[in-house]
Amino acid sequence: MKKVIYYGIRDIRVEEALEISPGKGEVKIKIKYCGICGSDLHEYLHGPFPESPFGHEACGEIVALGEDVKDFVVGERVCSVIPGSFAEFINCPVERVLKIPADMDWKRAAVVEPLSGAAYALERARIKGDETVLVAGCGTVGLMILLGLKSMGVRNIYMTDLLDYRQDKARDLSATLTWNPLEVKTSTKIKELTSGKGVDVAIEAVGIEATLKDCLSSVKFGGKVIVQGIFTERALVHMLGFVTRETTMIGTNSINPQLALSWLKSGNIRPESVITRIIPLKKIKEEGFEVLAGKSTENIKILVAPFGV
Ligand SMILES: [Zn+2]
Repeated sequence: MKKVIYYGIRDIRVEEALEISPGKGEVKIKIKYCGICGSDLHEYLHGPFPESPFGHEACGEIVALGEDVKDFVVGERVCSVIPGSFAEFINCPVERVLKIPADMDWKRAAVVEPLSGAAYALERARIKGDETVLVAGCGTVGLMILLGLKSMGVRNIYMTDLLDYRQDKARDLSATLTWNPLEVKTSTKIKELTSGKGVDVAIEAVGIEATLKDCLSSVKFGGKVIVQGIFTERALVHMLGFVTRETTMIGTNSINPQLALSWLKSGNIRPESVITRIIPLKKIKEEGFEVLAGKSTENIKILVAPFGV
């Protein structure tokens, strides 16, 4: 089978790998799609994380069961969250396999994992429907947060991004207002919008100093800053405002698939609308990573399809 091997910065190769049967407690999945995550792009551009999650947003069909697997059957559609899924097949321990409804569209299944990240973040934030929220960043992370906020009944959602295309997407998905933080000073704008008070919650969904600062300077007294962006650089922040405003800052990096699936069941959100391109496995470097690395203005989530679209 074909599989992408990570060799180093900007060096990934599609190679022939041995197809093995699933081990004890594992299922073998024929991968329909595997999304390129922001964390994958970071590893591609800056080097591997300690426990590399490279290629973890997969969905597909179970084609074989290992010993002692009881709760799954061959032919079942699932999502899996295990690194190494830029491949035709993956063997995955059942704890990392998620059942999805039989009628769920594959494109939607492909973004259940990022939506689950937003679900976890928002659960930690304990947001209430009448609160006002700033989301810094309209990439996949920010847009999934937006859909989650909508599902939780939040109405006032302000978002920032440097790219018009992403801002447009956020407004399409019903963000209240968006702006470019290089053109409009975010903390000033937020004060204007909240009668000087600041937002209840600010969510950092980029992973850079500038957006973290915007979040810290835009929350109200006693407000919360949720940090979900993946930082590669250090951030230098002035802590005086953090202390005097008695801000709570929460880092978040896990997933809550059950909450995400419940949003999909009850709401009318369409997370698959962040998908901008579907590419073959063999083109993953040129049409996937290099396109995203080029600060492409019209791509958000790219899916890799090992067996064709
Ligand atoms: Zn991811």
